[in-house]
Amino acid sequence: MSVNVHGRDIRHHALIETVESFRLLDAKGQILTVSREENSELFHTVIGGYGLFGVILDVTLNLTDDELYTIKTKSLHYDEYTSYFKEKSFKTMMLKCILQEYPLLLAPIWMKCM
Ligand SMILES: Cc1cc2nc3c(=O)[nH]c(=O)nc-3n(C[C@H](O)[C@H](O)[C@H](O)COP(=O)(O)OP(=O)(O)OC[C@H]3O[C@@H](n4cnc5c(N)ncnc54)[C@H](O)[C@@H]3O)c2cc1C
Repeated sequence: MSVNVHGRDIRHHALIETVESFRLLDAKGQILTVSREENSELFHTVIGGYGLFGVILDVTLNLTDDELYTIKTKSLHYDEYTSYFKEKSFKTMMLKCILQEYPLLLAPIWMKCM
């Protein structure tokens, strides 16, 4: 939390997105509850604050189901490399264009495709 890490896939944003609230022991020895509503000025400074604003004691996080990622591999003859990557980059470019035009409409589909 103190470094506001992102996960393996940076498209899913940093840890702060999943934090509901936490308790902070500050330099005066006070224990404060911090959330977007309570002591909110500390919410964005402590998360990613590298310990400068106190000691994080515990946290309430929004969690989700753990998903198993799999690596997909494809064997190709070296003759096919150029056409394979040309086709792949064309598809990626098309998706990016569509996403720029209709980001909200296609965002869930985009995430599934990646
Ligand atoms: C090989 C490598 C790969 C990495 N890959 C990624 C990655 O993919 N994504 C990513 O986001 N980061 C990545 N990092 C950075 C990594 O996430 C941070 O270095 C790590 O989270 C720091 O945690 P720590 O417990 O190791 O360090 P620590 O040194 O224990 O803590 C880091 C900071 O948090 C403070 N701190 C510790 N505990 C508390 C507390 N209770 N309250 C308040 N402050 C506290 C410390 O003072 C310090 O400033 C990588 C780092 C390495 C070395």
